[in-house]
Amino acid sequence: VHSNQGPLNSVSQHTLKAPISYVGIGLHTGKKVSMTVHPSEPNSGINFIRKDVSAAQAAVVARWYNVVDTRLSTVIGNEYGVTVATIEHLMAALRGTGVDNATVEIDGPEVPILDGSSQPFVELIERSGREPQPSQRWAIWIHQPISAYADGRYALLLPDTRARITVEIDFPSPVVGAQKLSVDLDQAFRQEVAPARTFGFAHEIHLLRKRGFALGGSLRNAILVSEDRVINEEGLRYPDEFVRHKILDCLGDLALAGVPIIGHYCGYKPGHQLNNELVRTLFSKIGGWSYLTIDEFDELLGRGRRRTPLQKPDDTMTWGTNKH
Ligand SMILES: [Zn+2]
Repeated sequence: VHSNQGPLNSVSQHTLKAPISYVGIGLHTGKKVSMTVHPSEPNSGINFIRKDVSAAQAAVVARWYNVVDTRLSTVIGNEYGVTVATIEHLMAALRGTGVDNATVEIDGPEVPILDGSSQPFVELIERSGREPQPSQRWAIWIHQPISAYADGRYALLLPDTRARITVEIDFPSPVVGAQKLSVDLDQAFRQEVAPARTFGFAHEIHLLRKRGFALGGSLRNAILVSEDRVINEEGLRYPDEFVRHKILDCLGDLALAGVPIIGHYCGYKPGHQLNNELVRTLFSKIGGWSYLTIDEFDELLGRGRRRTPLQKPDDTMTWGTNKH
């Protein structure tokens, strides 16, 4: 029996109870940045404000259509060319803990990497607490499969009654190799996904740095994998930490849809580019999905909390219609 009371299934929108702040370095730029996440209005979503550029050009909305680079991390930008890089671990933390609306003030071009996972963000969000807001929470409910393919990789969104992510990776490395994991986000995000760290291969670091990436990377904020072992002294947080981190990245990229997606994401060797293509495809397929409030969705599933649950199997036929 599934609980439907987790953060992804809250009926109302939530923001933070109080601002949270931190200072850290960007993984790719190596630049030290200060960041404060503030509560914000219902239906405002997640918005970044660059404090180090002129106020008129500083706002970057965290949505799929603003993704401007996906080579090594997800980078968003506005029409003035102002960008914020490596947003995915913060976006995953906000979505995974059910924070719908927040304004992120940052005084540099890249979100701090912290320990390479979402865990420090999640701990700060939990310390602040979530504030319920007087607005219904919308979700995207998938009713026809959505897909994106590229170079032997794929990503799918399939109809489901829960927000699930299944990821399969296959690296030509005996340390990482083939890993596959499926999680129910509402049940598993906090314990099974949020602490999983980003990773890199020792033989790629030199080339990355020559190209100006991974300048802030260290054993404090990434798992470093050599030919035959994990170089970090503390080892792994999970035997399959690599695929768990990919799930975290996918959640962060899907969060750019703007509202939670109720459906089953399946990715085979997914990456930021493929995920962005999947979300772009989603928004180009009118009729393959609907916006529903969580309340309406619960009612469709016969688990309504406020009204009489629907019981007849025929009622599930209304799933085929696009209500909004
Ligand atoms: Zn990542």
